[in-house]
Amino acid sequence: MRKLVVIVAAGVLSVGVLLAAKSHAPKMDAQRIRQHVKYLSSDALEGRGTGQKGGDAAADYIAAQFKSYGLKPAGENGTYFQSVPLVGVKTLPETSFALVPASGEPLVLRNLDDFVTSNETQTASAEIDAPIVFVGYGIAAPEEKWDDYKGYDLKGKVALLFVNEPISDDPNFFKGKALTYNGRWTYKYEETARRGAVATLIIHRTDLASYGWDVVRNSWGGERSYLKLDGTPKLEAASWIQEEVARKLVGMAGLDLDKLFQQAQSREFKPIELPVRLKAHVVSALRPFSSRNVVGMVEGCCYGKVEAVLYTAHYDHFGIDKSKPGDNIYHGAIDNGTGCGILLEIARAWGATKPVPVRSILFAAVTAEEQGLLGSEFLGKHSLELPSDPILDLNYDALAPIGVPEEVEVSGAERTTFYPTVEKMAEVLNLTIRPDAHPEAGHYYRSDHFSLSRVGIPSFSIGQGRKFDGHDLAWGEAQAKDYVDNRYHKPADAFREDWNFAGLAKMASFGYALGGVTATQSVDIRWLHGDEFEEAWYRSHSGGLDIDALFGGHPEFKPVHFEGIRYPPLAQQTRISGTVEAHVTVASDGRVSEVKILKGHPLLVEAVENVVKKWTFVAGAERSFDLKCDFLVADEPLTTHRRYSFVVEPFHLRVVAEPRTIETSTTSSKPH
Ligand SMILES: [Zn+2]
Repeated sequence: MRKLVVIVAAGVLSVGVLLAAKSHAPKMDAQRIRQHVKYLSSDALEGRGTGQKGGDAAADYIAAQFKSYGLKPAGENGTYFQSVPLVGVKTLPETSFALVPASGEPLVLRNLDDFVTSNETQTASAEIDAPIVFVGYGIAAPEEKWDDYKGYDLKGKVALLFVNEPISDDPNFFKGKALTYNGRWTYKYEETARRGAVATLIIHRTDLASYGWDVVRNSWGGERSYLKLDGTPKLEAASWIQEEVARKLVGMAGLDLDKLFQQAQSREFKPIELPVRLKAHVVSALRPFSSRNVVGMVEGCCYGKVEAVLYTAHYDHFGIDKSKPGDNIYHGAIDNGTGCGILLEIARAWGATKPVPVRSILFAAVTAEEQGLLGSEFLGKHSLELPSDPILDLNYDALAPIGVPEEVEVSGAERTTFYPTVEKMAEVLNLTIRPDAHPEAGHYYRSDHFSLSRVGIPSFSIGQGRKFDGHDLAWGEAQAKDYVDNRYHKPADAFREDWNFAGLAKMASFGYALGGVTATQSVDIRWLHGDEFEEAWYRSHSGGLDIDALFGGHPEFKPVHFEGIRYPPLAQQTRISGTVEAHVTVASDGRVSEVKILKGHPLLVEAVENVVKKWTFVAGAERSFDLKCDFLVADEPLTTHRRYSFVVEPFHLRVVAEPRTIETSTTSSKPH
């Protein structure tokens, strides 16, 4: 029998394995990172604006590097590029909002002073005349047992709500002081649009938003970019209104805004339809354009190549502002020339790694991050089109080349089963993990890894922390403050010859090592139970299966947690096929209490048992069903390996594997 490369059982890896991984790691070259950052932030690239010449030149440069490292193209039509269709939407001054009560005078609002709005549906003109409904925080979060809607139908209506989330000091309730995604304004628009609202008015309160109206006004006054419509529900008027306007609005209904805020803190809250309509005329200038993500791959060996470790970093910045005199180039040296430099150095290292890992390694330099994580959103939504399934994303965004860090930031990693491995690897590399100093700010939701998290892929960014070799903590804090105050998102974020890139090489080594463990060992990386992304993970692991059809016509088998059954790699390699039949008992709490195997080959039986045991259904009486599962090796390669299971009829599945060609040169690698 063949020797398998995957050798370590799932769970925490031993320090020995990690030390071995470290000693096998190629050396990261700080000088190469320096050269990438210097070039990407140079005047020639004009600030790498999305939709601008400099941004395109950066994408071409990154693709050329990928090619020189021997990476395979992982984009469209055998190229390194994935085109990202975008639309710029600018709300024009003739846009008008009026609040019209059932009786009495309408209140006409002033664009930018009283409200800001953007038409996400990407039409030049929209007319709205619809009732306004106060929906509290507008949150539906089953993992928190919280639902502000209580079955209320928002279709064709205007949602009025508060930004942020219910006030909490309890770490088990909306993560205490930390912000969950439910509190972000982006969530508010997405959730209300999903529920059929035509417009949403977020009540601005400086304390809740953590920034003033001037920030809202500045960022909504100009053009905003969106992904081209893809069927995701959108609002005709995604809006913010001043707190005082909200006060007058609810006053028209004889209600008090502060009392409504109090009511919104309760699980018992129910939507309140106000006797006030929004009459709006939204006029927009539209500018369709396109940009590109750059994707490359080191293909894993044998069966492992269906899964991949993904590395990401955004290459875009704000471009050039020709309306300004002097240095009008947003160089983006730190943000995010540095992340790209690290990504490229890790790509070079993986390109040179022999033997190739079991799993594939994907690299994506993404566009339009500064426009609202759009390139990574597109990458996440289209992750099924990548040649391998990412099971982990490691992101790099803005690491200052100011010395050798003694700390590493991995916020979000603690929410996954991968965290013990991250902790051990940090220890091996003499790095202390620095916890997120301001979890209430919700930074986790503001960088590209989040786009991958929301489609279920465990993801986090690797950052440097504040304590650097030869300096005290205060020095590191001061450096960070200086960056935020004087250079962040300004032309002054420019390259400096006196920078020290040794620390960035260290961060690259850390990411390479984590990727190495993931790509070569038997790991089970997923969100911890109860995490807000757990459901997305389950959905992405259903193997393209139509779950409704599998349990068709049986509401008592409505799944709460579900994972697809995959072909066991060993059975696939040895071409074992056959049918497994099992009698599955579901306890009253919805968990599977017993999987009794009636027939099947032991290797196939194991694959069924391991997964079915994790299925959970709605609570109810104890119940049971007979499951039939056919395993079959296809004669032809599958058009897409993700659609690996099919429903034949209710409670009857077919799991299909691609035929594997024997690759003796790549399967002879020794375990280490
Ligand atoms: Zn950035």
